Amino acid sequence: MKVNPAYSTKEQLIELYNKPLLELVFEAASIHRQFHNPREVQMSSLLSIKTGGCSEDCGYCPQAARYNTGLDAHKLMSVESVIEQAKNAKANGSSRLCMGAAWREVRDNKDFDSVVEMVQEVNNLGMEVCCTLGMMNEDQAKRLKNAGLFAYNHNLDTSKDYYKDIISTREYEDRLQTIENARKAGITVCSGGIIGMGEAVEDRVGLLMSYMEMETPPNSIPINALVAVEGTPLEDQKPIEQWELIRMVATTRIAFPESIVRLSAGRTKMSLEGQALCFLAGAGSIFAGDKLLTTPNPEFNEDKEMFDILGLNPKKAFTEGEQPTTYPDEVLEKKKKAAELRAQQLDEGSKNFQARKITIE
Ligand code: SF4
Repeated sequence: MKVNPAYSTKEQLIELYNKPLLELVFEAASIHRQFHNPREVQMSSLLSIKTGGCSEDCGYCPQAARYNTGLDAHKLMSVESVIEQAKNAKANGSSRLCMGAAWREVRDNKDFDSVVEMVQEVNNLGMEVCCTLGMMNEDQAKRLKNAGLFAYNHNLDTSKDYYKDIISTREYEDRLQTIENARKAGITVCSGGIIGMGEAVEDRVGLLMSYMEMETPPNSIPINALVAVEGTPLEDQKPIEQWELIRMVATTRIAFPESIVRLSAGRTKMSLEGQALCFLAGAGSIFAGDKLLTTPNPEFNEDKEMFDILGLNPKKAFTEGEQPTTYPDEVLEKKKKAAELRAQQLDEGSKNFQARKITIE
C-alpha cells in the first residue's frame, strides 16, 4: 500500500480538502481509475455478533453501557446463526462479512473460541471475513489469522488531538498497537474514521495524517458520517452536509491511491446523486443490509437498484488479496476431542449398563 507523495503534509492535505468540489472529485476520479476498476464496488455486510453492554465511553456509540440509548443488548450470537446470516448476505451479493462485537478488547475465553469458529466457517463460504472486536494482542491476532481472517477493523475515529474529546477510556496509542498486531499477523488492516462529531477540517485531515505516518497505510479506509443517537453525548450534533462526506472520500482516495475507501455509516442521509459522486470520487465499497451494527442503513434492494442506475457491479471476494487458508485451531481441536471422548464414554457406559433386578414380593 502506497501513499500519494504529492500530499504528504497536513498543509497539502488541507489545501486538497478545500479545493473546489468538482475539481477535487475530478482529481480523485482520475486517480481512482489508475488503481481500481471504477465499475466495481464491493458490497459488504456488517453483522453485530454481540450487541451493547460495552465498558468504553466512545461518545458516538449507542453500545456503550453507560449511555441510556434504549438499545436491546444481546450476548454473542451462536455460530449457526452467524453462518445463516453470512449465507444470506452472500446470496444478496455481499462478498465480505464484517463481524462486530461490542467488546473493549478480545479475551481468551469461550466467546473468543466461538468467534474463531465463526471466522473458519465464513471463510469456508468463500467470503472475505473481517472482524471488529476491540483491542487485541499479537497471539489473538495470530489465532484469527490461522482461522482464515482476511481483515481486522480498528478505527482511529479522528485525529490524535480530537480523540480525547470523544473517548477517554483508552488511548490513541492503544489503537495503533492493535492495528500493528493485526498487520504483524498478516491480516489486512481496515481502519478509518467518523466525520460530523464536531471536529474541524484539521482533525479530518489529522486522521489521514495518522495513516500517512504509518509504515504501511491501511488496506481499507472506511469513512463514516456520524449517526447521532439519542442518549449518547453526541446526540445533538447536526448531521453533516453530504458534500463534506464527498470531500472526505475524495481526499482519502487521492492521499491513499491503492487503499479501498469504504463509504460506511451515514448513507441513509445521502441522496442517490450524492452517493454517485462518492463512487466517482473513489468509494470502492458500501455496507449493504438494513442495519449497520445498530444504526439504520439502506436495504439490499435499494442498493441493487442504485447499482443498476449507476452501472456498477458488485465486486467479487479476494480481488485485493488471496483467500486465507483456514488451519485447524488448537483450542477448538482440543475441545472437539474432549467432547468426542466424553460421548464415547457415555456410549460405552450405556452399553455396559445392566439393569438391576428388583424382586417384588
Ligand atoms: S465503539 Fe466499540 S469500544 Fe467504543 S463503546 Fe462502542 S462498542 Fe465499545
